[in-house]
Amino acid sequence: MNKQLRKAIIAGNWKMNKTPAETKSLLTEIAPLVKDADCDVIACVPYVDLTTAIDATQGTNIKIGAENCHWAESGAFTGEISAKMLASMGLEYVIIGHSERRQYFGETDVTVNKRTRAALDAGLNVILCVGELLEQREQGVTAELVAMQTKIALNGVSKDELKKIIIAYEPVWAIGTGKTATADQANEVCAVIRKVIADVYDKAAADTMTVQYGGSMNDGNADELLGKPDVDGGLIGGAALVAEKFAAIVKAASK
Ligand code: PEP
Repeated sequence: MNKQLRKAIIAGNWKMNKTPAETKSLLTEIAPLVKDADCDVIACVPYVDLTTAIDATQGTNIKIGAENCHWAESGAFTGEISAKMLASMGLEYVIIGHSERRQYFGETDVTVNKRTRAALDAGLNVILCVGELLEQREQGVTAELVAMQTKIALNGVSKDELKKIIIAYEPVWAIGTGKTATADQANEVCAVIRKVIADVYDKAAADTMTVQYGGSMNDGNADELLGKPDVDGGLIGGAALVAEKFAAIVKAASK
């Protein structure tokens, strides 16, 4: 992390876990453990848990986000939720382009861009996920692939709007698998993303862009990953569901 230049941000991605009652209980457990954090702390929770999560974190330093949003403001999109709906709840963050959305729900770079655009238009901050499959890493195309995902996702996003974007580098082979990218691998690709921002926008935009790593980050490996200069935080899945583990990652990011 380079805290002189940018914000360290730890965000939990709860995926399809926790009922509203369980959400209240977990956030009540996490809040006192992270209250002195010297980084931003976010919990992205399922749609049905959002109201409970917002209420449970009133007066704390935990911010709440959703895990996806649709690109249209409203309309015939059964089962979808618009960015405007989320913003109207007082929500500040939304994850866009998570690999599970790309893998299981037909999300493409183009729909990621449309959802990103909609989220920005609604005033939300976006945690934008990019990352390669194992076979793409083995084919040696990680840098090109991640650069392309980043460029397409940010198509039509102004330099000023970049302030509302956090990019999460999440190698798909490391998500929920227990396999973590080495700290050097994570740093290398986070630096590639930063270079893309410098090329498309400018150095100042790249220097201040928060680029997180995500993929089996936990209380045991967070220190090493977050110790790398281009890794500015983490997007945390499994470990975000255990208060002590999530708090330990927040502590590592607070150093
Ligand atoms: C994620 O869901 O974004 C993630 C990184 O999951 P995990 O930490 O469980 O690998």
